[in-house]
Order: sequence, then structure tokens, then C-alpha cells
Amino acid sequence: MNCANCGNDDQEWLCDEGDTVYCQKCYHRTLLSTGELDEIECKYCHNMRDRTAYYCRHCNMDQ
Ligand SMILES: [Zn+2]
Ligand SMILES: [Zn+2]
Repeated sequence: MNCANCGNDDQEWLCDEGDTVYCQKCYHRTLLSTGELDEIECKYCHNMRDRTAYYCRHCNMDQ
């Protein structure tokens, strides 16, 4: 497995969370089922944000 955002494939820096992999280098999650980033559009700033994170990394609004 590797990170869909930065391409990191160093397992030391990847955290297996079951259905997603968390990259500790760039702080993005990748869905194992699709190999795509596990992100949704923020309804406040419309940037792509981590689906499972409580706060948007761009505008810090909670959802
Ligand atoms: Zn990464
Ligand atoms: Zn946002």
C-alpha cells in the first residue's frame, strides 16, 4: 500500500486503520478499497478535507 497524496510507500510511516491507511508524512488518508484519498469537500471552504478528521485542515471548521 502507499499514500495516494504523496506516494509514500514506507510502511514505517503508514498506519493501517482497517479500511484506510493514514500517512504520517503528509497526514492524508487513503482508502484501501479504491486507492483514492479518503476525502470529502468541506462545506465551508470547499477544499478537500479528511473525511474522518473532526476539523477541516483548511479552515478549521468542524462539520
Ligand atoms: Zn502521504
Ligand atoms: Zn474547510
